[in-house]
Amino acid sequence: MADVTLKHVYKVYDGGVRAVNDFDLEIKDKEFVVFVGPSGCGKSTTLRMIAGLEEITAGQLYIDGELMNEVEPKNRDIAMVFQSYALYPHMTVYDNMAFGLKLRHTPKDEIDRRVRAAAEILEISELLTRKPKALSGGQRQRVALGRTIVRNPKVFLLDEPLSNLDAKLRVSMRSEITKLHEKLQTTFIYVTHDQTEAMTMGNRIVVMKNGFVQQVDTPITLFEDPSNLFVATFLGSPQMNIVDAELFMDDKVLKAKLNERDDMVVEFPDIKAKELASKQYIGQKVLLGIRPEHVRPNQGKMSVYVDVVEHLGDETILYTKMENRKEQFIIKTPFNSKIHSNESINIELDMNHVYLFDKDTQKAIMGIPHEDEIPVRIDNNVINIGEQAIVLDEGFKNHLLDNAFNNDVRLGIKPDYISTEEVPNALIIKAKLEFIDPKTDYQALYFSLKGIDGYFALKVPNDVKIELNKEVNLYLPYQRLSVYDLEHNKVNSREVVYPNSINANVSFSGEEMKIKFGNNVLTYPKDPSISEGEYLLTLKQDKLVPIFNKKMLKQGHMNPSMDHPNNKIKVSAYDEDVLGSKLLTYVEVQGFEHYCSFVVNNEFSVYKMPKFELYIPNDGFVLTPKQ
Ligand code: ADP
Repeated sequence: MADVTLKHVYKVYDGGVRAVNDFDLEIKDKEFVVFVGPSGCGKSTTLRMIAGLEEITAGQLYIDGELMNEVEPKNRDIAMVFQSYALYPHMTVYDNMAFGLKLRHTPKDEIDRRVRAAAEILEISELLTRKPKALSGGQRQRVALGRTIVRNPKVFLLDEPLSNLDAKLRVSMRSEITKLHEKLQTTFIYVTHDQTEAMTMGNRIVVMKNGFVQQVDTPITLFEDPSNLFVATFLGSPQMNIVDAELFMDDKVLKAKLNERDDMVVEFPDIKAKELASKQYIGQKVLLGIRPEHVRPNQGKMSVYVDVVEHLGDETILYTKMENRKEQFIIKTPFNSKIHSNESINIELDMNHVYLFDKDTQKAIMGIPHEDEIPVRIDNNVINIGEQAIVLDEGFKNHLLDNAFNNDVRLGIKPDYISTEEVPNALIIKAKLEFIDPKTDYQALYFSLKGIDGYFALKVPNDVKIELNKEVNLYLPYQRLSVYDLEHNKVNSREVVYPNSINANVSFSGEEMKIKFGNNVLTYPKDPSISEGEYLLTLKQDKLVPIFNKKMLKQGHMNPSMDHPNNKIKVSAYDEDVLGSKLLTYVEVQGFEHYCSFVVNNEFSVYKMPKFELYIPNDGFVLTPKQ
């Protein structure tokens, strides 16, 4: 029994593969959490980091509140079951299960008690004297599970345990494992690439892609409210249909055009229209999603051409095409329809089950978003949110990058983290509840903020009651807030961002200006506005360029052209923070009191070059005279 918490966990393999980025999750005691995603998305790496089989590059892992990063796998009190059962062929089932306990010098009668209890749970008591070769695949997998159960681990980690089994056995083992979880009342973390396995087994599912968590939710919420196109199309079979569409208003009704003519126009119900993230999407091209089961054949006036009909007993799948479109449009009907291939039929979309996605970001733009985002401006220590000006917490301010200030930025927070009740250390904003959309697992509350286009959505439990049309305080915990620039790179960091400032001496030599600080000397052409003397030198966060070593140049990286060969300083890497397509790199520089930080393109990684030189161009610094 244990909570497992991953705080901003990263894994960069030697050679620079970014396998896992900013994995942040609290797994509660007794939960069954599934990591799902296509091959190579970082599921196993994350599981192996929890097990201690893989070093954590950055971030923290806690089990039951205890930091585990440096704890040996055998001392973590977890058990791992792999795809290959790895049973000892010469030992009986009993001995295979007892082996780990014998190694730990557990008393014999205690071993016997535990092996028999585990065998009973797994219903393999009659197999205890057999050897693995006399077992079926499913029985072997049960023994492999038994071997971990006898150890009474706090956490079970299962890495694709069913992928070696045939389809039928996989289905029955799925429910066996779910039952086992109920019996053992222990935390389970399960990795699979199979969406059906994930949807049927997990209390909560973590959907991953390319090393990034896409969404964490209950199966039903993932299915009802996918936060982006990837999650929407990854879960569900056959997968969601995605069609190009253009939104427009027609006499106060939100509609979408699916072709150039008027015969493919769909109309949104009022509640859906209200859930559109921003009015800016009206008149724009978007992606419209509808699941095959939410398309009704032989109704409405939209016509599609049926290519293939698949009868699956209790349901029929129609593979169709819309006029002038190449992509398949799939329809699932529950009854044995009389529709034939090579004919045109009319269809109607169930508009209560339509999804919209932004064409560029691929994020869901109707309904509860993955992250609420609102335009803000931060001036000095005040954040301006629509008509509200709020003084920022000093601690939060210390994590903001230079370009967070005096620029148009966006404040982001996940809907689950906003509270209507007072919480400590939170940004407090005033908002008015406009409408409520009840969901299966929660209710979605949509708030408006004065002076802001769009809404602020919250997920709250079904029993929370809030009055409509009344202004209330919303509490946004500072530690859950993100700030993004307009290209959607984060402009707040995990670590404190210190000013890149140091005392420096400026002197002239002929037409050159020399800036000395610590052991470093930088040389630039003389600047008429600067005289010799003492200054505060500040290196600009977004102008410093790492100089690649030979190995990196071989991999195709390019070095900057330098205005002066000496305008570089030696640095050693301290850490890095992924901001999106960019990276904030923290480095130690001789002479500076704190580490310095600078923004680079995320193809770079300090894990590839722990020590390097940093080029400081002509416009890469500011000199402020000392008083
Ligand atoms: P998944 O379990 O989702 O299939 P993995 O966690 O195994 O994904 O892999 C994530 C990424 O890390 C992949 O790009 C993979 O090639 C890479 N990777 C995995 N193991 C190693 C390793 N030992 N060294 C270098 N790269 C690795």
